[in-house]
Amino acid sequence: MQDTLMTPAVESTRPFNFSAGPAAMPEAVLRQAASEMLDWHGSGMSVMEMSHRGKEFISIYEQAEADLRELLAVPANFKILFMQGGGLGENAIVPLNLSRGASADFVVTGSWSEKSAKEAGKYCKSAIIASNAAQSYTRLPDASTWQLSTTPSYVHLCSNETIHGVEFHTLPDLKALGCDVPLVIDFSSHVASRTVDWSKVGLAFGGAQKNLGPAGLTLVVVREDLLGHALAICPSAFNYKTVADNGSMYNTPPTYAIYMAGLTFQWLKAQTETVAGTVLTGVAAMEHRNIAKAKLLYDFIDQSSLYVNHVAPDCRSRMNVPFFIRDAGLTGPRYDAFLTGAKARGLLQLKGHKSVGGLRASIYNAMPVAGVQALVDYLRDFERTLSSFCKSVP
Ligand SMILES: *Cc1c(COP(=O)(O)O)cnc(C)c1O
Repeated sequence: MQDTLMTPAVESTRPFNFSAGPAAMPEAVLRQAASEMLDWHGSGMSVMEMSHRGKEFISIYEQAEADLRELLAVPANFKILFMQGGGLGENAIVPLNLSRGASADFVVTGSWSEKSAKEAGKYCKSAIIASNAAQSYTRLPDASTWQLSTTPSYVHLCSNETIHGVEFHTLPDLKALGCDVPLVIDFSSHVASRTVDWSKVGLAFGGAQKNLGPAGLTLVVVREDLLGHALAICPSAFNYKTVADNGSMYNTPPTYAIYMAGLTFQWLKAQTETVAGTVLTGVAAMEHRNIAKAKLLYDFIDQSSLYVNHVAPDCRSRMNVPFFIRDAGLTGPRYDAFLTGAKARGLLQLKGHKSVGGLRASIYNAMPVAGVQALVDYLRDFERTLSSFCKSVP
């Protein structure tokens, strides 16, 4: 690995991209991939052109898996699977593998967990044991209120709701709640943004396109004892045991996406933050930086009289910040002009999800503090010049 490319030798001139996913990638990663596009490490091949069973790709794969295991501190009794099908695919693949003909419990905290509960219902009995739909998903239902089933096969939650901007800052301890079954988490949109307490988790899954790499790769981290219990109808390529036994190469894995994620892991390992004289690296460094980024944006929104975020402060997402403009006159052409103005400042993809509207800033690992600062500067300037803006865009 050419370490020099993993540190920003070149001052970036690219805009800041706030897309929720597929999302911005570290510029150093894109540059390295570009430099290796035609000939990876003297092999004469692009990574896209290699056999997934050849020694070149196997080395890429093994490095990526080892780096991820180190970054996320994945214990030895968990398998790391590089799959396909995305987060939505896992909504079917998880019950096919874990439900064992019994029911599964779902904590519904936003659009993604709502979808998970619905999809699982095709393969097993799925029970919604808590939901804050009535509060428009602006807070998390307290674990003490969950109506856990007697013996569910597993309990599912989405640890960061990408659309509603709600995040679990502490995972529930199911054992302490009297329900000693595996906890399944969909961590698609905050994987590698913070540390994971694996003692509370049986399985975690996530699409790569939010915080790890390009679309097409799905990460599954699963405790070994949960393998080998798939329903008979489970497709072989989606049977976790089959995938694990074949080192994620039962069928051709998404090789290029794995390579890009691997470069991202190298980049993550090279990140540092110094806190009170201590040097943090990797995910710990990212978590520190992500806390600072989120605070910068939420603090600005909270003191503003124009912008508002409706999520309860104790469960606001560090990664996805949905917010609204209070001024009812800022719709239609003015809303579009607001976004055009942002783009002119190099601030891309701030449009809110179609189901909730408004605005959304996704500030994943690849977003530097400077990007969040540039957004805050734009929002402040816009608020200051609101009356002249409204005259200029009738
Ligand atoms: C994006 C997202 C998904 C969907 O992922 P696909 O790869 O499109 O299937 C699922 N869950 C969460 C939390 C997401 O952010």
